[in-house]
Amino acid sequence: MTDDTAISLPMQRSIGSSRQVFAPRSASGAAYPNTTPPKSLYIHIPFCFHKCHYCDFYSIVDRQDRQAAFTDRLIRELRAQASYFPDLPLETVFVGGGTPTLLAPKLWERLLAELHSVFDLSEIRDGKGEFSVECNPETVDNQIAEVLAGGGVNRASIGAQSFNTDHLKALERHHNPDRVPEALETLGNAGISRRSIDLIYAIPGQTLEDFDADLEHALSLPIEHISAYGLTYEPNTAMTARLNRGQFSRAPEKLEVDMYNHCLATFDAAGFKRYEVSNHAKPGAECLHNMNYWRSEPWLAVGPSASGHLNGYRWKNTPRLDDYLKLSDRGFAPICDIEPPDTRRALMDLLMTSIRLSEGVDAVSARMTASTIEKQDQLCQAVQSCHDSGWIEHPYAERWVLTDHGFLFADRVGGELIGALLD
Ligand code: SF4
Repeated sequence: MTDDTAISLPMQRSIGSSRQVFAPRSASGAAYPNTTPPKSLYIHIPFCFHKCHYCDFYSIVDRQDRQAAFTDRLIRELRAQASYFPDLPLETVFVGGGTPTLLAPKLWERLLAELHSVFDLSEIRDGKGEFSVECNPETVDNQIAEVLAGGGVNRASIGAQSFNTDHLKALERHHNPDRVPEALETLGNAGISRRSIDLIYAIPGQTLEDFDADLEHALSLPIEHISAYGLTYEPNTAMTARLNRGQFSRAPEKLEVDMYNHCLATFDAAGFKRYEVSNHAKPGAECLHNMNYWRSEPWLAVGPSASGHLNGYRWKNTPRLDDYLKLSDRGFAPICDIEPPDTRRALMDLLMTSIRLSEGVDAVSARMTASTIEKQDQLCQAVQSCHDSGWIEHPYAERWVLTDHGFLFADRVGGELIGALLD
């Protein structure tokens, strides 16, 4: 939190082909995967009604004119990927964006019917699995809530960000904070019982007292999960441009640390336990889908800018909607980034994400993998050094877990660990 040391993972910026990512059919023509089957699916819906100034997710302002064409392509891409995994049982589906709830209910019905026809969603229907949709509070009404619930959605994540209109204005986030409890109630009435909100802190002009009021408001809501992120200034966002023009000052680092510690203590006292640097949940309400990402499990991904992980490859679909709409004959989206299987890179990815978890890194497995690239000693030395700095609890334990102090430096610790794997 206090040290945003940017760690760039090596990425081959080549245009790749989905043929590299998906397993070929067998000689008999039967379609089957040659690897651990994915348990998760991410779907990206790129439409928003306004571009928030801090946002660097791929989204476009919706003019309602391309939603049908987009849904056609999305369904074709789903079919193409699903054809390699007939009746694949999915444990989690996550629809993000963008603003997925901007998609017209009729198009949602088509998409949901397709999901049920090409995948086995019985675990989700039984309540053991998770089907999440990100929602903007302004776009949730009875109709969309009922369509989602009827299609198996059992978890909703609402972007609240703040309950203070001045701070929402500072973010150029266009929603009325009174709509957040209304949206949660509407979703709950439709049967979507698992509900989460996102908050942002360290907003310019926000005091610790202001943030405390946001926390109090959040904890009065019928939710089981809260994500709280310090405001980050991503390149090429309007927020960063305004900062660079001197239109406001960013929150002091000490205030950001105080806010992080305050929200941790407040959530903990209310029964929301930290399970990742920025994520807090009632017991059993952790986001399964994100846990699968952070543990480097394979997942499928469809939609513009969506990133997937399969057969050791990581790939990213092209972000531009116009380009995305040009699918291949077989229904795959153009890919703009692809990383081929690589033991060192896979271990680096795992260390960077799983060190941020309260459960930490599986040290036995990490050491074994590091030994295959002759980096075990270097990795253990880096862990010892992070322990000496007070960031990692026990260097010889079965899991490497951050200390409370270490959580403030999670990305830096991740950087130290992956640095040990480089020549
Ligand atoms: S609603 Fe979400 S995805 Fe859309 S611009 Fe705002 S932060 Fe980005």
